[in-house]
Amino acid sequence: MRGLMSNKNLLISSLIEHSSEYHGSTEIAHRLSNGKIEKTNYAETNIRTKKLAKSLTNIGVNIGDTLGTIAWSNIRHLELYYGISGIGAVCHTINPRLFKEQLIFIINDARDKLLFVDLDFLELISDITNNINCVEKIIFLCNQEELPKQHNIKQDLIAYEDLLNQSGTPIDEWPDFDESTASSLCYTSGTTGNPKGVLYSHRSTMIHTLAAANPDALNISSTDVIMPIAPMFHANAWGIPYIANMVGAKLVLPGRHLDGKSVYDILHQEKVTFTAAVPTIWLMLFDYLDKTKKKIEFLQRCVIGGSACPKFMIEEFHKKYNVEVIHAWGMTETSPLGTVNRPLHKHLSFSQEKKYDLATKQGRPIYGVKIKITNDNGDLLPHDGKAFGNLWVKGPWICSGYLNVSHSDTHDNNGWFLTGDVASIDEDGFMLITDRVKDVIKSGGEWISSIQVENIAVGHEKILEAAVIGAKHKKWDERPLLLVVKGENIEKSEIFDFLENKIAKWWMPDDIVFIEKLPHTATGKIRKVELKKKYENYLINLHTKSDES
Ligand code: ADP
Repeated sequence: MRGLMSNKNLLISSLIEHSSEYHGSTEIAHRLSNGKIEKTNYAETNIRTKKLAKSLTNIGVNIGDTLGTIAWSNIRHLELYYGISGIGAVCHTINPRLFKEQLIFIINDARDKLLFVDLDFLELISDITNNINCVEKIIFLCNQEELPKQHNIKQDLIAYEDLLNQSGTPIDEWPDFDESTASSLCYTSGTTGNPKGVLYSHRSTMIHTLAAANPDALNISSTDVIMPIAPMFHANAWGIPYIANMVGAKLVLPGRHLDGKSVYDILHQEKVTFTAAVPTIWLMLFDYLDKTKKKIEFLQRCVIGGSACPKFMIEEFHKKYNVEVIHAWGMTETSPLGTVNRPLHKHLSFSQEKKYDLATKQGRPIYGVKIKITNDNGDLLPHDGKAFGNLWVKGPWICSGYLNVSHSDTHDNNGWFLTGDVASIDEDGFMLITDRVKDVIKSGGEWISSIQVENIAVGHEKILEAAVIGAKHKKWDERPLLLVVKGENIEKSEIFDFLENKIAKWWMPDDIVFIEKLPHTATGKIRKVELKKKYENYLINLHTKSDES
C-alpha cells in the first residue's frame, strides 16, 4: 500500500523559495574583489535568480544542459547555483586553481554550453578559450560597462547584468521535474590522472542539506551568521549555500581574498558566528592575530576539514578565542559531508584534554552515511579504534560513478565507494584518518601514519607547516622523512626531542629537511606526489654518503 502523503519532488529551488518567503529580509553580505562589502537579502536574491532562470530559458538553455562557472564565492555565483539548477540545467562549478590542461579537459568533458566567469579570470579564460570546443557564450559576471573591450576570446561575450535584464520579469514559478535530475557537477582535483566528474542530483543535494544542518552535524540555525570560506567552486562550499537558504541564516560570501587579515576583517565586520575552511586558512588567521594581538569576537563554531585538523589548532581556537572546532571529513564524491565530530553524551564529562584528543578524530557518520574499513583482501576490519585499513562509504549522497566513465574501480555492486583513505573506526563509530592510501609509509611491512606525525610536528610553535613522506630505504623499503617549513629558527634536535614519546619509536622520522615552502594542490592539500618525487632517494643518498665517508 502506498502512503497518502504529497509526493512533492525534492528540488533545490524549494530552498530559495523557502528563504525568500520566510526569511526574505535576512541579509546576504558579499565582498567584491576590491574589498567592498555589498548587501542584499533572500527575497531580492530570489527575484534576481528567477530573472536569471527566465533569461537562461529564453536563450535556449534546456533541462540537462551543463553550464560552467569560474567564480569566487559571491552573490552572482549564488544566483547561478539556484538559477541554473532551478530550471533543470546543471551548475558545473570549476576550480580556477587547477592547471590549464585540467581546466580544458573538464570543460570539454562536461560539455559546458555557457561559461559564467568572474572578471578576475579574464586572463585565465583567454589562455584556454582556443582549446574549448563546446562553449557557445561566455558571460562575464559584471555590468555592460565593465565588459572587457580588448580580448582574444573567440566566443560571444555577454555581461551578466545584461543577460539578467533581458528577461525583464522573473519566472512565475520554478518548474517541477523528477528529483533525480542532475543539479550540479564538480570535478575531483585529479592528483593522479585526469579529474573525474561527480554529478549531484536534486534529491542527493536536498537530503544532504537536511542532514548536514542538524545539531549533531554542522549545527546551523537561523540565528547564525554563516560564512563558508571553503570556496563555492569546490565541493559546493561544503553544502553551506544550500543549508543557509534552508535555515534562513544570514549568509556572508567572502569573495577572493582569504589571507589572515581579509578573513579577520569580514568575520569581524559581519559578526560571523559560524564558518568552515581547511586548516591552512586558520594558520594564516592565527598568524595575523598573533601579530596584531586582535581577538576573535563573534565566532562560535568553526568547521575544519579537507585535511586533518591538528590538535594544537583545536586547542588554540578553544583556549585563546573560545571557538568550538567541529572536525569533519568528506570528499567531492560525498557531496561532501561524510563524518562530523560531535561529542556524545558520555563525552561531556571528559577532561578538557581528553575532549581535545577526541576532537582530533574526523568524527562519526552523520545520518544517511555508512562507513566500513577493510584490509587489502577486502575482509572487514573491526571497529576497535586500533585496526586501520581501506575506508569505504555508502549513502544517498555518495556518488555511484563518475561522469563519462563507463567503469569505476572504486565502486562495488552494493553501493559502497572506496575512498582512497586509510582509517580506523572506534567502538562508538568515531573515525580517524591515518593517511591517503598513496601516502601511507610502509616500513618493513608495517604502516606508519604520515598525518599523525605531521599533526604533532605542527604543534611545535616554531614550525609553520610539516609533511611526512615515505623515502626509499635499503633495509626497511621506506622510512619516514619529515619536511618542515620553519616559522622561527629551530634545530633538528629540538624537533626530534619534541616528537619523542609522542609517537611510537619506529615512527620517528629518519631525518628532517628544512624547506622554504610546501607545494599545495588546487584545494589546499599538500602535494605529496611532488615531494615524493623530489625526496624519494634522499635517505638512500644520505646513507651512501655516510658509507663512503
Ligand atoms: P580533492 O579534489 O582535493 O581530492 P576532496 O575534497 O574531494 O578534494 O578531497 C577529499 C580528501 O581530503 C579525502 O579523501 C581525505 O583524504 C581528505 N580529507 C578531507 N577531510 C579530511 C579530514 N578532516 N582529515 C583528513 N583528511 C581529510
